[in-house]
Amino acid sequence: APAPPGFPACAQVDLGAISANVAALRGHAPTAELMAVVKADAYGHGLVPSARAALRGGATWLGVAQLPEALELRAAGVTAPLLSWLHVPGQDFAPALANDVQLGISTTWALDQAVTAARGTGTTARVHLKVDTGLGRNGAWDADLEAILTSAAALQSEGVLEVVGIFSHFAYADAPQHPTVRAQQERFEGIVEQAARSGIRPSVRHLANSAATLTNPSAHYDLVRPGVAVYGLSPVPDLGSPESFGLREAMRLVSHLSSVKESPAGQGVSYGHVYTTTEQTKLGLVPMGYSDGVPRHASSVGPVQVGGRRYTVAGRVCMDQFVLDLGPDSHAVAGDEAVLFGVGAAGEPTAQDWAAAVDTINYEIVTRVGARVPRVYL
Ligand code: PLP
Repeated sequence: APAPPGFPACAQVDLGAISANVAALRGHAPTAELMAVVKADAYGHGLVPSARAALRGGATWLGVAQLPEALELRAAGVTAPLLSWLHVPGQDFAPALANDVQLGISTTWALDQAVTAARGTGTTARVHLKVDTGLGRNGAWDADLEAILTSAAALQSEGVLEVVGIFSHFAYADAPQHPTVRAQQERFEGIVEQAARSGIRPSVRHLANSAATLTNPSAHYDLVRPGVAVYGLSPVPDLGSPESFGLREAMRLVSHLSSVKESPAGQGVSYGHVYTTTEQTKLGLVPMGYSDGVPRHASSVGPVQVGGRRYTVAGRVCMDQFVLDLGPDSHAVAGDEAVLFGVGAAGEPTAQDWAAAVDTINYEIVTRVGARVPRVYL
């Protein structure tokens, strides 16, 4: 699938890979339900098509951070159980309740607003309590948790609230032997018991992200909540490749050379001339830049494949373009495909290669692909 006419680049998204990855993840967690995390435009892969592909692969829930993401799925006709967990003070939860979106609750104000919306609309707010078991980020602990459990118990008997789930998130899921992993699980189990003593017995306990889904069966509980692995990326690149977990990369980021020109030796390339040709050579121009999500500091390290050969970005990445030094013997011509990343098993550079090259994580590489890059679905 080439870029649509007039577009210099595209992200090809293999929806079959997303479905197959979800099926593989269900195989890793056979006793749990699976919530495919599709926040941030499905990690850059496109919210609605990716969510549908995940459901075809056997996901039984969808998870997003922000309520507008959940409402976009509902507006598109997606009816699967749906959880949204990061809210804004003052947010009106009535649209969530009207659209059967379940709410992650980590603060007393969010609980109050959920109940206000339930009373206002004559419905029941269905929520998952988000508890902090040691990540030190979003989630209730200590006195706030105690207060939430006490009010939740009362509100549940009144019928305005139903606590469907309880969940937490790991700090070190990508290092399964790290002592905090066991400690967080113990804390989680303790909080589940504490909730039960307050009369709250959520049927869906969940803690595992992709890394824990793949490496820590004791953390699967009733439901696993993978994100990055759904898109075929390894959450633990040092421990295993996508293939080793039965996953394959769903996104290929491709462009085409828009020009190839002869250059003399000693020519500075792109802004600031941070790269200089060492011989007479051919310079290929790739019409993608940092506005498309190509990291600006990929100079000399970002891998790009043209005609089956691997090059690295020559000189600075600009807003809309960057250059490759194709070498004197290249037969590349304008129009040839330039693969920034794709499927490792097919010999292409991967999002993980880019992450390693620019010192970030594969999550950021796919999520940052710019809005102006069309997603083409396979
Ligand atoms: N659960 C929560 C609460 C998250 O914030 C995320 C993403 O950061 C996930 C699950 C999915 O994590 P991963 O992409 O590592 O599987």
